[in-house]
Amino acid sequence: MSRLAVVCGGSRGIGRAVSCLLAERGCRLVVVSRREDAARAAVAALPGAHHQALSCDVSKEEEVQRTFETIQKMCGNITYLVNAAGVNRDALLLRTKPAEMVALLHTNLLGSMLTCRAALRSMLHTRGASIVNIGSVVGLKGNAGQSVYSAAKAGLEGFTRSLAKEVASRNIRVNLLAPGFVHTDMTAELRGEDGARSIPLGRYGMPEEVAQAALFLLESSYVTGHVLVVDGGLQLAL
Ligand code: NDP
Repeated sequence: MSRLAVVCGGSRGIGRAVSCLLAERGCRLVVVSRREDAARAAVAALPGAHHQALSCDVSKEEEVQRTFETIQKMCGNITYLVNAAGVNRDALLLRTKPAEMVALLHTNLLGSMLTCRAALRSMLHTRGASIVNIGSVVGLKGNAGQSVYSAAKAGLEGFTRSLAKEVASRNIRVNLLAPGFVHTDMTAELRGEDGARSIPLGRYGMPEEVAQAALFLLESSYVTGHVLVVDGGLQLAL
């Protein structure tokens, strides 16, 4: 039986590129996003068969629980989990309403905790299971106008390292991927002519370039609790 990979936030952007790469490597994919039509469209474009699309808001505990029970029944044990579901709303803290803070923290931090928790039960039965959480270089370095988003991503770093220690004895690896600016819907409004000036490599990354790094972390056998930065050198300039 081929490896089963669950990609949360797999309908667009980085998650979609990771899904494609994993499907090319022969994995069966479960693509999860809030909009089922978008997840279905992403699955329809994947190479190979036996992929599934499921709608789930990762910030909602009951939905996550139900979704992972469905995955277990329909597809069996999970080998890979990628947490790419994320949202961002750039705003100074003084202009951010508490409800917006909660929404950002729930999707970007709590969401990954809930999906990891739900997937781990299944992963205990898989040899060499692996989780990749998608953080951000701003979680490591901070960025004005992104304090809440950065806090969520920084929290994800601590969560990843701690969980890596918790589950290492079961041969489950947990790593964090920290991209810089990547060409996706999330950065569509940011990309002006000057947008890439602060990036040493002089350009935004492509989702496929981040996906290559995710694949390395998923398939490696001796890397855990690691933060892999994929940012064209941006953190050197921050
Ligand atoms: P996109 O906006 O392109 O895609 C986000 C994906 O997440 C979509 O599939 C979306 O589908 C899904 N999603 C959003 N909220 C939820 C939710 N509550 N439950 C389930 N699915 C959800 O984002 P990117 O591909 O750019 O970002 C992917 C990850 O990488 C995010 O965690 C982001 O924070 C991080 N990142 C991105 C960077 C960039 O420059 N693009 C830089 C650094 C980090 P739907 O709307 O249907 O739910």
